Amino acid sequence: MGRHGFSNRVLSWFDRHGRKHLPWQQKPTPYRVWVSEIMLQQTQVSTVIPYFERFMARFQDIKALADAPLDEVLHHWSGLGYYARARNLHRAAGVISADFGGDFPRDYDQVVALPGIGRSTAGAILSLSLGQRYAILDGNVKRVLSRCFAVEGWPGRAAVQKRLWHLAEELTPKHRVGPYNQAMMDLGAGICTRRKPRCGECPLSECCIALDQSNPEAYSHAKPRRSLPVRQIQMLLIVGDSGELLLEQRPPSGIWGGLWGLPECPVEQDPAIWVESSLGIGCRQLGLLEARRHTFSHFHLDISPVMLKHNNSANCVMDDDRRVWYNTANPDARGLAAPVSRLIDEFQAYLKGVADEPGSKLCEAE
Ligand code: SF4
Repeated sequence: MGRHGFSNRVLSWFDRHGRKHLPWQQKPTPYRVWVSEIMLQQTQVSTVIPYFERFMARFQDIKALADAPLDEVLHHWSGLGYYARARNLHRAAGVISADFGGDFPRDYDQVVALPGIGRSTAGAILSLSLGQRYAILDGNVKRVLSRCFAVEGWPGRAAVQKRLWHLAEELTPKHRVGPYNQAMMDLGAGICTRRKPRCGECPLSECCIALDQSNPEAYSHAKPRRSLPVRQIQMLLIVGDSGELLLEQRPPSGIWGGLWGLPECPVEQDPAIWVESSLGIGCRQLGLLEARRHTFSHFHLDISPVMLKHNNSANCVMDDDRRVWYNTANPDARGLAAPVSRLIDEFQAYLKGVADEPGSKLCEAE
């Protein structure tokens, strides 16, 4: 099947079955498509929709995003993970404001030079919002093309990547590029799924080599597995007299960079002694919350949460640029990593349970 046959099939399928009502497809400006494409990296559409709508309600244009404090941007990203995406979005908004007067650039080379925007994302933004003829190659499109054209090997390998880009560019039509690219993403997400692809509903079934070989799940090469190293820490939930929690802002780069988190103490140290020597405040240990594992792309983080009661937080002024006593009953807009939010919720439930007990342990100590 030639290039036209391929794209015609994809486009007719899109006209009948493609998604056309996603929030970023309404008024698809480069800004809205850009934000949606960044949110959709590693994240499903159904998860992204409410985040996108809240983000757009708060940061209505690039200037609003560039002018906002990073902390507020991270707050709106809390729970989506991969926070480098939000930091890059904020950084790129600053560049667009400074260099392009707040108008998203329309030139491919200028777009792909922005922080956090790679080749496929640049192609998606320019094709979906402006109809420019650029190919895309996200994970879904890679899977469809690998199966249709029997491309062997992990798509992260340079040679495989090169072949897939060549195919993607060859097959991208001259007209209706935006609908075609959207259709390819939709096909990968909903029809040519990693497991049990629905080949009976696929417009490419007549030309698909994987299906012809009776092995449609083939050519879906996962990244070669390697065992991840494990890091261990104690996360300290230090509560003050009024139920406020001590939070620290994390360094701007690295995991959860720029977000607010809990003080972390090495596993081999006694938490109360560590708090005294590192933070200069006296505490006593209340107990432990359930240990848990959080997995990042490059390591596992084993977290042992320890609850501590500050001996006299009224006499302790800790608030500065990087530390605050966080009012959990009336939280302000701060970016918190999802595991930290969950720990705070559990801690509040614990405190409530203790406070409801006759002769509460918290009160006894005071
Ligand atoms: S025919 Fe099946 S394996 Fe081939 S592209 Fe379509 S869904 Fe994927």
